[in-house]
Amino acid sequence: MDSSSGGAVAGASSSEPPTTSPTVTVTTVQPEGSSPPPPPQAPPSRYESQKRRDWNTFLQYLQNHKPPLTLARCSGAHVIEFLKYLDQFGKTKVHVSGCPYFGHPNPPAPCACPLKQAWGSLDALIGRLRAAYEENGGRPESNPFGAKAVRIYLREVREGQAKARGIPYEKKKRKRSAVTVSAVSSSGGGANDDSGGGNGGAGDNTVVGGGTTATTTTAANASTS
Ligand SMILES: [Zn+2]
Repeated sequence: MDSSSGGAVAGASSSEPPTTSPTVTVTTVQPEGSSPPPPPQAPPSRYESQKRRDWNTFLQYLQNHKPPLTLARCSGAHVIEFLKYLDQFGKTKVHVSGCPYFGHPNPPAPCACPLKQAWGSLDALIGRLRAAYEENGGRPESNPFGAKAVRIYLREVREGQAKARGIPYEKKKRKRSAVTVSAVSSSGGGANDDSGGGNGGAGDNTVVGGGTTATTTTAANASTS
C-alpha cells in the first residue's frame, strides 16, 4: 500500500500582506481632541444628575403655577400638589376600590384603573428635592419638602397603594443587623420562614430576639478512673 503520510501543510503563516491601509488603529497614544475617554475616576453620579433634573422640574412647575408661586412661598401643600400633578406621568397601576383586581398584585387582565406614580418613586423624589432645596440656599426650617404634611401624604399614598396593589411595603430601611444565630443545629430542610402574609390587622410579632441558648450538654461522661 502506498500510504504517503503527508504532513499537514500549514501554508497560512507564510505570506503576510503588507498593511498599507491608512486606517491603522493600533496606535497606543490617544490622539488629542477626538473622543475623550470617559474618566474612570469621576463617574457622574446618577443621583446627583437626577436630583438636578428633579429640581429643575420643580422650578419649572413653580414658573407655570397659577397663580404664580415663588420658592420662598412654597409650602408643604404646594409640594403635595406637585406630587399629585406628577401622577399623570406615572406608570404604576393603582386599582380603584371598585376594580375586581383591587388588591391583586398580578392581575390576569388589564383594567381601566389609572396609572400613578409609585410611592417609592415619590418618596425618593422628595428626598432628592429636600436635599436640593437646601443645597440651593434654602433653610432647613423652611424646607417645604420636609413638611409634616408631605410626610403624612406619602404615608397615605404608601398605605393606599399597598392595599390597591396587594403589595405590602415592608420597611426596607430596617435591617436586621443584630441577628446572631449562634448555633443552628440541623434545621429541618425546606422550612420556609416566610409565613403567609396576613394582610389583616393581625400584628406580626416577628421579633427576632429572645435568645434561647439551650446548651444541651449531652456529653458523654467518660468516667475513666
Ligand atoms: Zn384595576
